[in-house]
Amino acid sequence: MSFIHLKNLTKTFNHNEREAVKELNLSIDKGEIVTLLGPSGCGKTTTLRMIAGFETPSNGTIYIDGKAVAGQSHSLPPEKRGIGMVFQDYALFPHMTILKNVMFGLNRWKTQEKKARAREVLELVGLEDYAKRYPAQLSGGQQQRVALARALAPNPHVVLMDEPFSNLDAGLREKMRYDVTTILRKANTTAIIVTHDQKDAFAVSDKVAVMNEGIIQQVAAPKEMYRCPKNCFVAQFVGKTNLLTGMMDEDLKNIHTHIGKVSLPEESQKQLETVKLSIRPEGCKLVQEGTFCGRVQRVTYSGEYQELYVQLQNDVNHAEETMLIYAPVEQEIEVGKVVSFDINPALVALVD
Ligand code: ADP
Ligand code: MG
Repeated sequence: MSFIHLKNLTKTFNHNEREAVKELNLSIDKGEIVTLLGPSGCGKTTTLRMIAGFETPSNGTIYIDGKAVAGQSHSLPPEKRGIGMVFQDYALFPHMTILKNVMFGLNRWKTQEKKARAREVLELVGLEDYAKRYPAQLSGGQQQRVALARALAPNPHVVLMDEPFSNLDAGLREKMRYDVTTILRKANTTAIIVTHDQKDAFAVSDKVAVMNEGIIQQVAAPKEMYRCPKNCFVAQFVGKTNLLTGMMDEDLKNIHTHIGKVSLPEESQKQLETVKLSIRPEGCKLVQEGTFCGRVQRVTYSGEYQELYVQLQNDVNHAEETMLIYAPVEQEIEVGKVVSFDINPALVALVD
């Protein structure tokens, strides 16, 4: 069995309402960093709180290090689960020094050992020179590293972090994604991180679990999730995309869509049937004489690239199909211009 295993985990708050978390299954290996990614209200925090022991599952079992910590017949209290929690607002004690804050997590240790361990984890998070300061004298990023140090101090089986980056501005956010993962890797800790932000999830995780309405939609490494999203929801949640419908060709490698023939990266498992496609905007490349062409309807400049909304002729019912395409910023493109492009099969995926 994997190091952490969530089996059919279900939580219903009110019996006449839909489940906040429904039959969730997830396996996490020792040392893995996993994120639960999904829109607000999809059940991420509830899942984390059940693992921590702050909520009781309505059904299902939670195993940590081979031991059932919550299930039908019994439930271990939070302090006995070997969990380090980092709260969204860090929850540091304002009247205690940084050192005392970190020592707080070690209340059952001997005083001398407590101090030595607290200094050790402060060094791990790069704050050994800040031991005597108070939380208010630290920046947001530093406070977060203190919260992480406090969670890591007792050597927990797993660290749980709820939206760790959402209080940070863009620049600091990127730095903290890197700092937090570096610290977790150095400590060789298993971690479950909750976020609604796809960039956070991709930057920090070995494995991402995308959730919607209490249900896990897909579990995959970031690259696989982006390249091969399982369904329309995942395709749209982990990046911008174009969704099209078409008919599978006999060769099982090409799809006949309303805008023309689109190729898949490899032969599909599906048969001759109607299928849905996800085509990433960066997979559409403007070229002199491409397979597809359409009229530019709208151009949005993002700094890194230009987002073009291109209207294509739908040759079946002459309705219009609009596709999002990324173009390099140095290219002169005006609204109304006809552009031609090819689609890179590597950025095309079949979705449910
Ligand atoms: P997320 O963290 O993904 O934003 P939550 O896990 O907080 O989502 O919430 C999932 C669903 O459960 C929401 O519909 C929310 O309103 C509901 N919920 C969460 N906590 C409670 C509670 N203590 N009582 C009743 N409903 C709750
Ligand atoms: Mg939440």
